[in-house]
Amino acid sequence: MTLSDTLNRPLRDLRISVTDRCNFRCVYCMPKEVFGSNYKFLLHEQILTYEEITRLARIFVSLGVKKIRLTGGEPLVRKDFPDLLAMLAQIPDIDLTMTTNGSLLSRFAQQLKDAGLKRVTVSLDSLDNEIFKSMNDVDFPVEKVIEGMDAAAAVGLAPVKVNMVVKRGVNESSILPMARFFREKGFILRFIEYMDVGHTNGWRMDDIVSAKEIIKIIHAEMPLEPADPNYRGEVAERWRYKDGSGEIGVIASVTQAFCRDCSRARLSAEGKLYTCLFAIKGHDFRDLLRSGATDEEVAQAVEKIWGKRADRYSEIRSENTIPLPKVEMSHIGG
Ligand code: SAM
Ligand code: SF4
Ligand code: SF4
Repeated sequence: MTLSDTLNRPLRDLRISVTDRCNFRCVYCMPKEVFGSNYKFLLHEQILTYEEITRLARIFVSLGVKKIRLTGGEPLVRKDFPDLLAMLAQIPDIDLTMTTNGSLLSRFAQQLKDAGLKRVTVSLDSLDNEIFKSMNDVDFPVEKVIEGMDAAAAVGLAPVKVNMVVKRGVNESSILPMARFFREKGFILRFIEYMDVGHTNGWRMDDIVSAKEIIKIIHAEMPLEPADPNYRGEVAERWRYKDGSGEIGVIASVTQAFCRDCSRARLSAEGKLYTCLFAIKGHDFRDLLRSGATDEEVAQAVEKIWGKRADRYSEIRSENTIPLPKVEMSHIGG
């Protein structure tokens, strides 16, 4: 079955946020001033149980979803997270993956693999401890994240992908060292343009280092050529090193909006469905599940929401640069 929204886009990807909590306070995502000790995170009874998540995932897959990414917050801080993976891994024919800050990965890599995870994306913004610590804002060292990536690769969670958010004046000096390092290691590094998600990161257009600029910087030292996308709607634009030593990706969410092929839905930890990363309003599925709805009724609710979907925030932003209201990324799931 394939659903189609008002712009003819299918529903193919589901990103599930398993928790709104995180052990980092990345300045561009959960700045300390807002996510401090008084911040009210969701209570355990407010978030979906693993059974509820799995039930919803199965329903989404019956509606055409092919890829499920677990995210957050930091997925590995939720108790017994590998149990959820094991439950989701039972769903046939899906590409199941996760994004993590890597801080707990060396401890969990084997359990994740055993639970049925195939590959993992790890976020790392610099190899320079001073820069990285200033970005994660909890004094977390680079080496521990690399250790986590290596543990993931060693147990076969491959290929390891690395996400680097680039912010002007903060970590642009890390672009080349990161490219060199991960090319050597054979991990796929993806550069992400810093986005205006949420209200709290004080985003300004000037803070972006564009994908074009990033490619130019790397190409000058390590020549690149464009590579074909793996599939329609792939978020990262792929580039290959001309000497055959691997590839990188750039995610130009701001400067080259890719809304026209966007087939992603997001489920927040409390069970709200968002049809765009920048959506202001989510549709509640937790109460629907807890009120005893059948699978058919839940599927119909998804169909109705997707059928009305017209989101194209990033394209509209580039057309008008209107600041529109939105929800925090740590809440909705990156
Ligand atoms: N905690 C996990 C992590 O950091 O990988 C998963 C959740 S995080 C919200 C998912 C991805 O979103 C990370 O790669 C992170 O770097 C990215 N991200 C967060 N805030 C962002 C922003 N303002 N602009 C671009 N990417 C952002
Ligand atoms: Fe946590 Fe990931 Fe957000 Fe950083 S980007 S604060 S690690 S959720
Ligand atoms: Fe998809 Fe919304 Fe991002 Fe556009 S702005 S690519 S519709 S999530």
